Amino acid sequence: MKKLYKFYSSCNTSGSVEGIFIADEKIIKSAIGCNVWFGELLGKNSNIYGTLEKEDLTIINVSDITINEMEEVLGTNISGYNPLDYITYICSRCAKKFSVKEATFYMNKEGNIICHECLTDGEKDIFEEI
Ligand SMILES: [Zn+2]
Repeated sequence: MKKLYKFYSSCNTSGSVEGIFIADEKIIKSAIGCNVWFGELLGKNSNIYGTLEKEDLTIINVSDITINEMEEVLGTNISGYNPLDYITYICSRCAKKFSVKEATFYMNKEGNIICHECLTDGEKDIFEEI
C-alpha cells in the first residue's frame, strides 16, 4: 500500500537531506538498511552517503484518496529528495549490488528484490517492477 513519507537525514557537519515522497510500504521495507549515495548534493566534495534507516522516515497520515490525487498531480516525488532514487539494492539472487540508476529491479509478494539479469520470462507475472 502506498504511503506519504517524510525523509530527514542529518549529514553530520554538512547539513541535512530532506524530502517528501510517495512510495509503496513494501518497497520501503526492502530499502531500509540499503546504501544510499547522494554524491555531492550539499556542495562540492560533500559526498553524502549512508544507510537508509527506519528513523529517517516518518509516515505522514493522509487518506488513500489524497495520496492518489497527489500522485496524479505531482508524481511520487513531492518535494526535496527521494532516497529511493539514490539507493543501492542487493539482488537477492545473484547478490550483486546495483544502484537504481544502473539496473531495473523487481520485487515479488514476499518482498524479495532481484535484478533484471536474474528475472526469467516465467517470473514476469509474479515480480513487479520497482
Ligand atoms: Zn541478480
